[in-house]
Amino acid sequence: MERTYLLLGANLGDRVSSFRRATDLISERVGLVVQQSGWYETAPWGVTDQPAFLNQVLAVETTLEPEEVLNQTQAIEQELGRVRMEKWGARLIDIDIVYYGQLVLQTDRLIIPHPYLHQRRFTLVPLAEIAPDFVHPVLQKTNAELLEACDDANEVTSVLPGE
Ligand code: ADP
Ligand code: MG
Repeated sequence: MERTYLLLGANLGDRVSSFRRATDLISERVGLVVQQSGWYETAPWGVTDQPAFLNQVLAVETTLEPEEVLNQTQAIEQELGRVRMEKWGARLIDIDIVYYGQLVLQTDRLIIPHPYLHQRRFTLVPLAEIAPDFVHPVLQKTNAELLEACDDANEVTSVLPGE
């Protein structure tokens, strides 16, 4: 059993309902969802007339190998994205594997820890909320320390349920 941290992201459609459906499918197919961060919104960068991004991190206890986790999360992305694919021409949900225990892995399909996590406030803010003391296996810093050191200028705002 390993604890994996998954980052959900969406900027199209009903983002919260996409997160809820993704979380249900993750709990069915990847493993028990033991922690969920709040929802965090990041204003779109550059092209500002597109919807804001919403992000959330889930901690999931899984018996699947990392490649199998990716197979499942990619299948879920496709299933949830298919609904409005024609209308929007984009995916409605992105699911990235941030950590898989203390595993360090680099293959053609999969890089763990996620290579940009320490550069992005939209990943570090929800991570530091639910796992401030978890240590990045390569950088050897906690999520809280990585957030403190992060110079990403993009503002990440907590969004309360129902907003
Ligand atoms: P992005 O997440 O960068 O917006 P995609 O979701 O389309 O883009 O992912 C592109 C590719 O990234 C996937 O096909 C997958 O094989 C690869 N990938 C590498 N490392 C990871 C990871 N840690 N989590 C998810 N996908 C990953
Ligand atoms: Mg992705």
